[in-house]
Amino acid sequence: MDGAATRRDRLVAIDAHLEPLAHEALVVRRGTRSGLYTIVAVHSTARGPSLGGCRMWTYGDTREAIRDALRLSRAMTFKSAVAGLALGGGKGVIMLPAGSSPPEGDARRAVLLDFAETVQMLDGAYLTAEDVGTSEPDMETIASATRHVTGLATSRGGSGDPSPWTALGVEAAIRVACERAFGSTSVVGRRIAVVGVGSVGGRLAELLAEGGARLVLTDIDGRRRALADRLGADWTDPASALIADVDVLAPCALGGVLDDATVPQVRARAIAGAANNQLAHEAVGELLAERGILWVPDFVANAGGVVNIAVELEPGGYDTERAEARVRAIADTVRAVLDHAAATGSTPLAAANEIALRRVAEPASPAAA
Ligand code: NAD
Repeated sequence: MDGAATRRDRLVAIDAHLEPLAHEALVVRRGTRSGLYTIVAVHSTARGPSLGGCRMWTYGDTREAIRDALRLSRAMTFKSAVAGLALGGGKGVIMLPAGSSPPEGDARRAVLLDFAETVQMLDGAYLTAEDVGTSEPDMETIASATRHVTGLATSRGGSGDPSPWTALGVEAAIRVACERAFGSTSVVGRRIAVVGVGSVGGRLAELLAEGGARLVLTDIDGRRRALADRLGADWTDPASALIADVDVLAPCALGGVLDDATVPQVRARAIAGAANNQLAHEAVGELLAERGILWVPDFVANAGGVVNIAVELEPGGYDTERAEARVRAIADTVRAVLDHAAATGSTPLAAANEIALRRVAEPASPAAA
């Protein structure tokens, strides 16, 4: 009896943690070289091959790692669709056991080749790229065993480091937010707080400073203060930056910073940043709207990286000028999302989700024909 109850409880617990399975494919393989699990989730290929980075991370168990792959691949479908890319959503995960350190040397090569084999099995339905825990050299290793790799160095015909492009796209989103909130895309004299000045936030701060903005910068890494000194920006702690007396807030560190406790204290009129999953939960989108704060959905504002990668797949291959034009066009996407929200009386999040879902449904599927 007890055993059955325990088993039932465990199944209920598993159910509670699984994502709704609306995905096209989920491949989970224990690598023959490394003994580690490599996972690829393909959420949708309705608009093109699924694309999403390969995350090398430690997880408590395989369920957690699978859940991450399912959740992140779905988010990639939305991000690419709303950006108007001919790409679907996918994600790769290399699961490191809890408490272990990232493998190095031969061990790293072994797991990357195991992952490449998983990618290769999907025969182009999934294209991989860099993500948290993987680097450009890792992509080179993966590329030695499968051609379904993006984001290789520009010297190899790839689109290179996505961060500067993500920053450029976020800057474009901030300018449109300023246009809507203050009547002009100019950032001259605008007070803008950038929370997290790493690869994306640091570059964003430079772009905004060049544009004449007055910046408040913060990071948990105190070494980043040198950037504030260089740009003549104010420096504060992360909690103060979130509620600083600024015009625009740009979250560029981790997700979940906008929640029921922080939003009532936010003084910025507009929010647009690079961090993924900025809202602690979806209802925070309504809370922001009630407070008259214009929030540009994160997956709209931070699409510059994937927009840049998509240029690799265009006829003629990767080209920096075309990449810049495509990334700058994120401004048009933001305008379309905000217009749709205004026209339908919905939040920018609901509007962006609706646009994405409509686009994913657009191509005629063989089943529907
Ligand atoms: P990064 O690691 O280079 O920079 C993140 C910075 O945030 C670091 O300097 C870190 O010290 C700081 N940080 C961490 N926690 C913080 C906190 N609580 N308060 C203040 N600062 C904090 O990462 P990145 O590549 O710049 O990415 C930043 C965010 O943008 C992430 O959420 C990432 O998922 C997202 N994003 C990045 C890209 C890209 O092209 N790199 C694309 C899309 C989305």
